Amino acid sequence: MESITASQVKDVATENGFHRIGHHKCSMCGYPTGYVIDGDHVAFDAGCDCTGRYSSRPSSFDDIARNFNMQTPEIRARMWEDFKAGKPLID
Ligand SMILES: [Zn+2]
Repeated sequence: MESITASQVKDVATENGFHRIGHHKCSMCGYPTGYVIDGDHVAFDAGCDCTGRYSSRPSSFDDIARNFNMQTPEIRARMWEDFKAGKPLID
């Protein structure tokens, strides 16, 4: 499967009305981190400060696309199908 682009991610998020895309759960407290989408703006909500970082930082649709593109093509294709089917989760 080809790489996912930022605009593809944005299109699907807009079509599905995604306001939050789940990422991983914090390994220390279990907080479900994720990307928060507000129109053209994306922030990453780390939620907790277990790692000593800011709990929220500016992000982008490119960042979200990178999560897909770091996977193998097979996994990427499956994640992308789920994403398009309305499951806002990258894990
Ligand atoms: Zn935590």
